[in-house]
Amino acid sequence: MKQYNSLNDIRTAITTAQLTCRKLVEHYIHNIQEQAELNAFLEVFEQEAFTQADIVDHKIANGTAGKLAGMVIGIKDVLAFEGHSLQASSQILNGFKSLYTATAVQRLLAEDAIIIGRQNCDEFAMGASNENSSFGPVRNADDHSRVPGGSSGGSAVAVQADLCLASIGSDTGGSVRQPASFCGIVGLKPTYSRISRYGLIAYASSFDQIGIMTKSVADAALLLEVMAGKDEYDSTVSQREVPAYSELLQTEKKYKIGYIRDCFESEGLDTEVKDAILGVKDLLKDAGHQVEAVEFPYLDFIVPTYYILTTAEASSNLGRYDGVKYGFRSDNATDLTSLYKKTRAEGFGLEVQRRIMLGTFVLSADYYDAYYTKAQKVRRLIKEKTDELLQQYDFLILPTAPTTAFKIGENTANPLAMYLADIFTVQASLAGVPAISIPVARDANGLSIGLQLMTRSFEEAALLAFSNYILDKITVEV
Ligand code: GLN
Repeated sequence: MKQYNSLNDIRTAITTAQLTCRKLVEHYIHNIQEQAELNAFLEVFEQEAFTQADIVDHKIANGTAGKLAGMVIGIKDVLAFEGHSLQASSQILNGFKSLYTATAVQRLLAEDAIIIGRQNCDEFAMGASNENSSFGPVRNADDHSRVPGGSSGGSAVAVQADLCLASIGSDTGGSVRQPASFCGIVGLKPTYSRISRYGLIAYASSFDQIGIMTKSVADAALLLEVMAGKDEYDSTVSQREVPAYSELLQTEKKYKIGYIRDCFESEGLDTEVKDAILGVKDLLKDAGHQVEAVEFPYLDFIVPTYYILTTAEASSNLGRYDGVKYGFRSDNATDLTSLYKKTRAEGFGLEVQRRIMLGTFVLSADYYDAYYTKAQKVRRLIKEKTDELLQQYDFLILPTAPTTAFKIGENTANPLAMYLADIFTVQASLAGVPAISIPVARDANGLSIGLQLMTRSFEEAALLAFSNYILDKITVEV
């Protein structure tokens, strides 16, 4: 069967009787089995997906189908789905089943989406390569010896390799945008608080945001429209009205765009990535947009600030996994303290343990002011500067990641090198503003290069419309 790249194409095929939801689910399940080596899915909800497909086919025939009828979606293993296993790719949640469904997932189901399975990711969403999963690494479909990026690597590959039409991931410091860049798809991190986090496993709560991975901007817009908005189960979610993003995708406007000069001068930036993004910048200028270099003096501070704050929050959030309440419990314990220690030593992987220890250290009485308080202050400076730039410019553009997909194993020996892979994505996360990665070019090895755009909080409509315009009108040759 041919590959469908948008819900619109699928709906057209269904309307003209060339396709049914059942056939579509068969197609994806066939692809998942055929490409099992990619390790993108931890579990496929085969029977359930077929049952739901028949229900949706029936509703389409009756004219009662929801907005997402025909959309087959995979969910990252950090989103609760009642009655289904949920384990953040960790052994510590082995055997745990969700008691309820995340609000975002509930809203997808209410619009007749079909959830096809649970996707591999870095353990507790900590990573930039999907090599930290206790279920083994995910492979990039363009080159199986390379990583898909992380932490939502399984979700990205699933869309890249046509294992489902869209994936729902989470983005704390780039986990939707960076794998989208490595896999040649669209990855959207909405404004912090735009989508309810109820039912999303917490990593760093003041950063975590549910994100969207698709082949088309139109599908991202539709999914955002369905999932965003107030929710009585998340007191931090925004109460703002949700625009009809999917109807606001056309734009003829000439925008004011800033490109962050310091990013393009940073040491680890691959020259092909640099040339591609500067190429887009020039094309935007030629197309009549006002494009200017801007200064962002805090580039050197964003990665340390991010890692101090997120490890602090993680050490607190992950305190709940103690062998008593959820999932895995060590068999080797002799008393309560050894139950905690052994469960956590056996259940958590090395990267998660490293972050819990780092976070506990930066929050400890002697170092709290030197690290945690200071990082909070620096976060404020970064946010104020980012907001100030976004008052002057409609969009800030920069690469999503400093390189294209690297080899499996290439960065695992050096966690600091891995943390630097986040250099361009964490600014939007520290500032809480929306950001998107769109595929604009390929390097000499055929690996995808993503362009990242940031905009003002809650201006996803403009972000999506402009991304759509770039993908439509701007073609870069590298
Ligand atoms: N790579 C970053 C980290 O490891 C981002 C992860 C994420 O966004 N969940 O923290």
